[in-house]
Amino acid sequence: MTDTERAEIVLDSVSKSYPGQRDPAVDNISLTVPAGEIAVLVGPSGCGKTTTMRMINRLIEPTSGTITIAGRDITGMDADRLRRGIGYSIQQAGLFPHLTVARNIATVPGLLGWDRKRIAARVDEMLTLVGLDPDEFRGRYPRQLSGGQQQRVGVARALAADPPVLLMDEPFGAVDPITRGLLQDELLRLQAELHKTIVFVTHDFNEAVKLGDRIAVLGKGSRVLQYDTPAAILADPADETVAGFIGTDAALKQLTLARVADIEPTPSPTARVTDPADTLRAALGDQEWGLILDESGRPLRWVSKEQLAHADSLTDLGSPVTGTVPCRATLQEALETMLTEATAQAVVTGDDGEYLGLIAIDTLVTHLARLRAESRP
Ligand code: ADP
Ligand code: MG
Repeated sequence: MTDTERAEIVLDSVSKSYPGQRDPAVDNISLTVPAGEIAVLVGPSGCGKTTTMRMINRLIEPTSGTITIAGRDITGMDADRLRRGIGYSIQQAGLFPHLTVARNIATVPGLLGWDRKRIAARVDEMLTLVGLDPDEFRGRYPRQLSGGQQQRVGVARALAADPPVLLMDEPFGAVDPITRGLLQDELLRLQAELHKTIVFVTHDFNEAVKLGDRIAVLGKGSRVLQYDTPAAILADPADETVAGFIGTDAALKQLTLARVADIEPTPSPTARVTDPADTLRAALGDQEWGLILDESGRPLRWVSKEQLAHADSLTDLGSPVTGTVPCRATLQEALETMLTEATAQAVVTGDDGEYLGLIAIDTLVTHLARLRAESRP
């Protein structure tokens, strides 16, 4: 495989029986993952997700059936060579504890015989890509990293040799919810650039909805209960089991399908902190609240009309802005922020933290109604 190949993955009637087990761990799964997409396998613990995934890089050999990647049957291929073309990232990151971050990331490039200079450059490139400063992190050992940092290194390692295919088995399962959200955002950002074919395993349906171009909802023995886009599954679950798996909050989950950037933010009166108070007074008109921005245009403090009444300078006025959401955030994340704000609204910021506008709960409700109308079959 080369990185320019369009690496569609096709599982055709694939089964795996372990010796001494009555039921097959994977029972006749057929599934096509289109090139350049993220397919999420979601299902309860023990249903066969890991077994299914590990047959794709032949860490487990199928009992029957065929698997092709980019049109080539992988059973005939040399397993080591196959694996060098497939990034693999697992829960707890699976880093080698006795190797530095740099040497962990360099594993596959080293096996591929890259020269030292190229490997060193690639390690730094990958660390930067996953948001870690190379100078700070390349010499550390895994135990000197937080869980989230370990996962980032795990992703960097999986991507190091630029494989067309990435297998991710509950890669963010062991980190706290906030870090998990950041790692998910990071993966989506990377994927927008890299267009890998990704098989992502999780038992968290929210994660599946957020990350998947398609979701395969699996039952026991990796039986495919439904395989479709997140919007289609949420709007029209195939059966009771799938519906049960989605839970009672399908509407809330639909909020993870849209981004804050999809909604036009509402403007509010603003002034720079270096502006005279009169500037904000003029902008405010008869509105009650205005926003002070720093010199780079990032939100700093809310000021009420009353606080502003006798002020000359904006330097120390008002109270700090707390509820901000980046425009990349999902609407569900935006809702969570709004619910913790007395005003039930959030301040939307751009890629550099700059102020873009406000978003309020009623805007979400309207948007949700439209989403649901659109995705009904
Ligand atoms: P999941 O990743 O969905 O939690 P797995 O693929 O790990 O599920 O496991 C599927 C089924 O296969 C489970 O019932 C598990 O106990 C069984 N299983 C997994 N690995 C082995 C093995 N090496 N030997 C025997 N049974 C196994
Ligand atoms: Mg598993």
